[in-house]
Amino acid sequence: MGEALHGIGVSSGVAAGPVYRVAAPPRLPERVAVPADRVDVEIERGAMALAAVVADLNRRAGAADRPAVVEILRAQAMMADDPVLRDSVTELIRAGADAAHAIDRAFAAHREAFAAAGGYLAERVADLDDLRDRAVAFYLGQPMPGIPAPGRPFVLAARDLAPADTAVLDPTTVLALVTEEGGPTAHTAIVARTLGIPAVVRCPGVLRVAEGTTVAVDGGAGTLWVDPSQADLDALMARDAERQERLSRSAGPGRTADGHPVALLANIGSASDLSGPAGDAAEGVGLFRTELLYLDRATPPAVDEEVATYSAVFAAAAGRRIVVRTLDAGADKPVPYLNHDVEPNPALGVRGIRLGWRQPDLLQAQLAAISTAASRTAAEVWVMAPMIATAAEAARFRDYCREAGLVKAGVMVEIPAAALRAESILSEVDFISIGTNDLSQYTFAADRQCGALADLLDPWQPALLELVAACAEAGKAAGKPVGVCGEAAADPALAVVLVGLGITSLSMAPRAIPAVREAVAAHALPDSQRLAAAVRGAADAIEARALARRHGAFHDPAR
Ligand code: PEP
Ligand code: MG
Repeated sequence: MGEALHGIGVSSGVAAGPVYRVAAPPRLPERVAVPADRVDVEIERGAMALAAVVADLNRRAGAADRPAVVEILRAQAMMADDPVLRDSVTELIRAGADAAHAIDRAFAAHREAFAAAGGYLAERVADLDDLRDRAVAFYLGQPMPGIPAPGRPFVLAARDLAPADTAVLDPTTVLALVTEEGGPTAHTAIVARTLGIPAVVRCPGVLRVAEGTTVAVDGGAGTLWVDPSQADLDALMARDAERQERLSRSAGPGRTADGHPVALLANIGSASDLSGPAGDAAEGVGLFRTELLYLDRATPPAVDEEVATYSAVFAAAAGRRIVVRTLDAGADKPVPYLNHDVEPNPALGVRGIRLGWRQPDLLQAQLAAISTAASRTAAEVWVMAPMIATAAEAARFRDYCREAGLVKAGVMVEIPAAALRAESILSEVDFISIGTNDLSQYTFAADRQCGALADLLDPWQPALLELVAACAEAGKAAGKPVGVCGEAAADPALAVVLVGLGITSLSMAPRAIPAVREAVAAHALPDSQRLAAAVRGAADAIEARALARRHGAFHDPAR
């Protein structure tokens, strides 16, 4: 079936179409002298390049249907439409620069001013760089950098995607996503899963495939076929249609084959993530990431706004459990007006609950808003804190929750120290939820955003599973729930292992639930336990996967 390229499948599903790359930013050419009689033409060309960027962004905003995307694109268009920028390009050309260098220098001056202003504006310098690259590319007659717009649905290939690119990914035109770098827990994978786009990361060779070539992508198996025959394509699509059909019929609460309940919950960032059949199928919400409310603004939200947002989310979850995570600002989720300090290692710095300890008013205001919204809802509201390291921190968080009138208080286990002391932590709180994304990062000392370290960040790493097992055993001894809400829970075969380790709930992007439900239901508990014991003894993630395959855990035929 044509040449096959292999990577790590991070978002299931099959898609085929022409492949297009995220264009690289243009290289600034040698400076050219503009003859005096061409200066006005050059000024015109500089202005046209800026205008083309504005028009392109506005066109994309007009075509986008997600309000958050429209907002991002319109804000970028406004930045490029700044008359001060246009005037300085004109002045620089009059002073002897060609338009490409004038654009570059005008943006550089803007960049400096933004960076010096700090806070929200400093956050926008990456947008300025992107706008400069676009304007220069237009001037040079090169493709605009960033997500291509070939005018037909396509498979997107990239080295990795910038957060700004992932924010504007449109699932109606991007059929699948394949990156040469990136890792299973980085933002690209999380966004692809949330949008339901088949995705493969760490796929060497994908950037060598000629643009426009038809490729088929299996986001479960982690395979990309170059130029498959029509017969192969038909067979692959038929298999996937069968799988989709089977999964669409899958319903009801999570259970093992012998009837042990395993709650299948949703990871969400807003009420809209719970809408539609995928959200309806969730037994509840295992992780409500509240950061969205704090991003893209200059000050924390007012209490009324927080209460209104939480009330809307709780209404969407009515009748079900919803676990709200308090603000996890910092590191991969920077909130510049809160994370003021320049830290050499933000992931090891004042992030998550550590910010709450330093700004207790902020934490207390959030808990009060959650409590007010909880008192007005039929949802069962639980609260948990991110980045808890010790039992003393867990106890302190519980006390804050109780003071706010919140009855179910838990913590995330994302730091190895917390996993090793799960028993004492559980003696302080009502439940724990394991954040395997950060737990991998801290266990392997591997930045979760670093694609080059994806092997270490693989959630099948036996050392990570050892810590999960320690938590599950502590939960069993205490008779308290222990869930997993990191990306590991969305991998159907790994979900079987987690159940075997004693995990009581799995929380994931809503679209991942049917495949996980099916995998969990295919194994009786003793069977999952046997698999879990074998996987714990594996030498590495590759052997762990191989054991699971032999055990029949990869029973999804598309994988
Ligand atoms: C995690 O770390 O696994 C987790 C669920 O939290 P986040 O990905 O939001 O850091
Ligand atoms: Mg985390």
